Parts: sequence; structure tokens; C-alpha cells
Amino acid sequence: MSTTVGPDADRVAARLDRARDAAAAAGVDALVVTPGPDLQYLTGVVKHSHERLSALLLPVEGAASFVVPRLERPGLAGTGVDRSGMEVLDWVDGEDAHALAAGRLGAVRRVAVAADMPALHVLGLRDRMPDATLELATPVLRELRMRKDADEVDALRRAGAAIDSVHAQVPGWLVAGRTEAEVGADITAAIVAAGHTEAAFVIVGSGPNGASPHHEVSDRVLQGGDVVVVDIGGPLPEGYNSDSTRTYAVGDPGDAVREVYAVLQRAQEAGVAAARPGATAGDVDEAARAIIRDAGYGENFIHRTGHGIGLEVHEEPYIGGGNDLVLEPGMAFSIEPGIYLPERWGARIEDIVVVTATGCEQVNRRPRDLISC
Ligand code: ZN
Ligand code: ZN
Repeated sequence: MSTTVGPDADRVAARLDRARDAAAAAGVDALVVTPGPDLQYLTGVVKHSHERLSALLLPVEGAASFVVPRLERPGLAGTGVDRSGMEVLDWVDGEDAHALAAGRLGAVRRVAVAADMPALHVLGLRDRMPDATLELATPVLRELRMRKDADEVDALRRAGAAIDSVHAQVPGWLVAGRTEAEVGADITAAIVAAGHTEAAFVIVGSGPNGASPHHEVSDRVLQGGDVVVVDIGGPLPEGYNSDSTRTYAVGDPGDAVREVYAVLQRAQEAGVAAARPGATAGDVDEAARAIIRDAGYGENFIHRTGHGIGLEVHEEPYIGGGNDLVLEPGMAFSIEPGIYLPERWGARIEDIVVVTATGCEQVNRRPRDLISC
């Protein structure tokens, strides 16, 4: 099994062809993709400066090319841009990089740009292409990135195993008398030790803080009986992210907590069971939500059931009510219902799943019970 998903020449060519087809189907004449997850997906290029224009130019008709400041050209070595042999158009300070890109694209009418393109480049291109309209490339590129290929699924499995290995250690750190921040520091170090490039987020929500889904860490001291939400993740070197939540109890949380938690666990299982080809994203949300609502906690489940994941922690498809997107094999997303009782406690269970031919695969395998520490 390879340890990177860095696109080789064949993969770059295949992804560029699919991007062209999707652009053509959308009536777009050219894509302009600056550094960010879309560029990483298409070419493996990750970092380039913000104020100097680097961009993939991908016309529907004609060859792809890459605009880059000459001083950053060496950084393309080994990337998909380099390996694919596409033409590189470099420029030096003082030259008009937007005019260079516009000249290369020629007489195009609809140009779709990456969602995270800095405004100075959007406006710069617009000024040099007065006859073209600029629009977001997101509707085109999400069609590609939403459907993971086998190597991407492998990367998500590795990310899942890495964060599972951190969750396995968490009970040892949740000790009465320690603060959330102290526990968070242990978790942060373990996330990196498990092979992530960074701990992108570490939520340790104890007691009442667990009722705030995006709480991070605080100086609150853990007490016996606390319920603690631990939601953690980050990127592996190849760029794919982990994201998993388990809920723990410091000592005995009592029967009332266990009863509510059992509802949540059934809801999460129902969401997983509903995730299969042909179901919609909204069906998965409703499967989980119905169980929580029927138990009387509908008002306490205050977010969508999940989000897509890949090169970004949050990307398409979003698993929320009313999303009619039909699930297909290769789509990867979280299933993370929660129940939040304000000023008391909260609980959430989160797995990343990948839709398979018949159902879905959970890449997170840690026990989903309320784990007493
Ligand atoms: Zn999470
Ligand atoms: Zn999540």
C-alpha cells in the first residue's frame, strides 16, 4: 500500500480530464485554480505565496498550463504539474501575472475560479478579462472531490486508524483534578505522534462545556461524574484528514446520563445503517434525527448530522435535512449526531464513513459506548 496520494502523471491527467468534462457539462470555458485544496487535489501542489499569482489554467479546449513566480518554480519539482509535463509559464516581480494568465486563456467567456482564490487575483483577472464572466469553480470541482478513488479511501482509512490510536489513550488522561487544557495538551501531542502533521482541532468538553458543540478546551477542572466530549483530528502528510468523537465519563455518570446516551448511540447506528448508495444525504440525517426526536430530545440536536471529509475537514457532501444529493460509492462523510443539555452536559458520537457498493464502511473502529474512565 502506498503511503502517499501525491498524484502521479496518470492521475493528474485523469483528474484534469474529469475536471474538463465537468466544466464543459456546466458550460464553463476554463478553470483557474489557485493554491488550496482544489489545486492540491488536481496537481498535488500545496504551498505557494498568497500575493504572487500561482494558478493552474485549465481550458476546456486546449492544454493545461501553470502560472508561477519564477522564484517559486523550483517548488514544483515532483508535483503533478512537474510530472505531467504541462507547460509552466513563469514570471518575475514587475511583470503583470494576471495579464499573462488572461493572455494564455484567450477568448473565453465563462471562467470558474477556485473558491479560495484571493480577492486581489479575482479582481486582477477580471480587469484583464473584461469580456469574460467569473464564477465559482466549486459546483464543478465538488463533483470530482466528493467521489473518492481507492487511494483516497485508503488515506482516509489510515487517518481513521491514526485518530483511533489517540482515542485509545484518552481514558488514561481523563482523571478528576486535571483541566481540560491539560488533557488537550496530551491529546495534541498524541495526534502528532500518531502521524498527523498537526492537531487541527482538539475539543475536550467536560460537564456543561460538553453542551457547546464547538467548545475547544478551558481551564475547567474535571470532576467525578463528568461526561466529557472529545472531538479530535488533523491531516496526515498526504493531506487527508481524520475527525472522530467519542464521549467519556469520569467515574460513574449515573443512570440518567446512560439512558440519554443510549438514545444517541441508537441514533448514530441508525445514521450509519442509512448510509448506502441510492439514499440521499437528507435520508441519513433523518434516520439519526428521528430517533433523537422520538425520544424527546429533538431540540437538543442542534446541528446537521455530518459533513464530507477529505483534503478539507469540512467539504461536500453535507449530511443535513433537505439535502437531496443521492449517495454514491466513494463518498466520505461524518455521521455525528449529538445531544446537548444546556448548562448540564452533552454527548456526541462521530465516525467517518465511506459509502460502498452495498452500504458504508466506518473508518473509525473504537467502541462507541459511553466509556467510563
Ligand atoms: Zn469532529
Ligand atoms: Zn466532524
